[in-house]
Amino acid sequence: MRNRKIIAISTTVIFSLITFTACEAQDKIQLEKIETAEGKKMNTYEIEKSEKEWREQLTPEQYHITRERGTERPFTGKYNDHKDDGVYKCVACGNELFSSETKYNSGSGWPSFWAPASEKKVQEEADNSLMMERTEVMCNRCGAHLGHVFEDGPQPTGLRYCINSAALNFEPEKGKEE
Ligand SMILES: [Zn+2]
Repeated sequence: MRNRKIIAISTTVIFSLITFTACEAQDKIQLEKIETAEGKKMNTYEIEKSEKEWREQLTPEQYHITRERGTERPFTGKYNDHKDDGVYKCVACGNELFSSETKYNSGSGWPSFWAPASEKKVQEEADNSLMMERTEVMCNRCGAHLGHVFEDGPQPTGLRYCINSAALNFEPEKGKEE
């Protein structure tokens, strides 16, 4: 029984590392695409800033994740194992993205939610690079890359929003601050 549990955990960790490696490889490809398409790209977000302004506002890690579609290493993010009540806001613009009420432990190594705070808060886009069918999740107000959504989450939605801690800023529920 114990062995089976260890095998299950090891499999999850290995899968997370594979996903992470693939994500990082993909980042480079997407980055090139963005650079070549520059000038033609349409920005339609409520909050728009130049890359220079984002760089000044965000830490290098936050910038890499949100503006360069980076992926933090699994089990390293500050909100992976975070269980307090409150809201998770976009680190770039403060948009309320996820509630602690939908957060659950997926074992993936990244903060996981089965739903966004509201469908209007996030933008989802097909991401079929590297022979993987994935759906990218972005902040609908500033376009920050947050992570991906998969269809292996718990009920009631069956979805798993796999989000980078570095893209989020947690705000505790009022009256529950430590
Ligand atoms: Zn945002």
